[in-house]
Amino acid sequence: MKKLAIATLATAGLMAGSLVGAEAAQKFVSIGTGGVTGVYYPTGGAICRLVNKGRKKHGIRCSAESTGGSIYNINTLRAGELEFGVAQSDWQYHAYHGTSKFKDKGAFKDLRAVFSVHPEPVTVIASDKSGIKNISDVKGMRLNIGNPGSGTRGTWEVMEEAMGWKRSDLKLAAGMKSAETGAAVCDDKLDAYFWLVGHPSALTQESLATCAAHLVHVTGPAIDKLVADNSYYRTATIPAGMYNNKSDIQTFGVGATFVTSAKVPNDVVYTLVKAVFDNFDQFKKLHPAFRHLNPKEMIKDSLSAPLHAGAIKYYKEKGWM
Ligand code: GLU
Repeated sequence: MKKLAIATLATAGLMAGSLVGAEAAQKFVSIGTGGVTGVYYPTGGAICRLVNKGRKKHGIRCSAESTGGSIYNINTLRAGELEFGVAQSDWQYHAYHGTSKFKDKGAFKDLRAVFSVHPEPVTVIASDKSGIKNISDVKGMRLNIGNPGSGTRGTWEVMEEAMGWKRSDLKLAAGMKSAETGAAVCDDKLDAYFWLVGHPSALTQESLATCAAHLVHVTGPAIDKLVADNSYYRTATIPAGMYNNKSDIQTFGVGATFVTSAKVPNDVVYTLVKAVFDNFDQFKKLHPAFRHLNPKEMIKDSLSAPLHAGAIKYYKEKGWM
C-alpha cells in the first residue's frame, strides 16, 4: 500500500499537550517525477531540497519519487497517493478537460497548477548508422516511443495519429523506460529514441557523448498543424552546441509544469511555492535547464488548470498578480 497522503506525525504532540505545538507536527509530501536521468527527477529533488531546508520551521518533509512520468503522476495525484507531480502541459490540459487519454476517466476538476518549469522539446536521438535526419525517416525503424504512463508515450501516440502512421509503420515500437534507452541505441538494439525532455538532460548528454548518435529534426506539415491547432504546443529549437549538434535542431514541444490537487491544503502549497521563489537564485542553479526561468512567466505560461489557492496567496503577496 502507498503511504498515507500528508500523514501527520502529530501524535506525540497531541499526547504532550501544549508542550509540543503545531510546529512540531511533521507533514510528508511526495512529488512524482520521471526517470532518474531525465529533468523531472532533479526538478522534484530541487524543490524538495529548498523545502526541506526550512523543515524545522514549517514541519514539511518533502521527497521526490522516480515514476513513469506525466500521465502516471496526474493519475496518482488524482488517486490521492501523491501530493504533487511534474507533468507536461499537454497532459495537464487534457486531464483538466477530460479529453484525449483522459476521456474515459473524465475531467479531473480538482487538478491545480502551481507553476511551470522548463520547456520540453520533442527530442529524437538516432544512431548515426540509421541515417535518420527528420522524424519522417523514422518510418520502418526501431524506435522507443516511451514507457506506458509517460507523457512521452502519450505525445507519441498523438503525433503518430497526426502523421497518419499506424503502429506497424515502425519496425519496433519499444516501451522502455527513458533511463534504458540510451544504452539500447548505443548497443544497436534501437535506431532511435523519442522523448519530451528539458535541455540539457543527463540521458541526452550521455547518449550523444558516448555513442555515434545525433539529434533529429521534428518538422513537417503534420507537426505544423499540431502546433497551429493546439495552444499547449509551440515550435521549439534545441540550440546549436547544446550537445554535439553544430546547428539548431528544429522541433516543437510543450512545457514542464508543476501540479497538485485542490485537496492539498493551502498552507502546504504555499510553503512549497515560497521555498522555491524565496530562494529563486539558488533554485535556478540546481539544474542547467532552469537557467532561463522567470517567475512571472512561470505563474502563467503553459498552465491550463486553475492555480492552487495556496500558490495564488504567495503570488499576490509578491505583487505578481
Ligand atoms: N516529459 C517526460 C514524461 O512525462 C519526462 C521527462 C523527464 O523525465 O524529465 O514522460
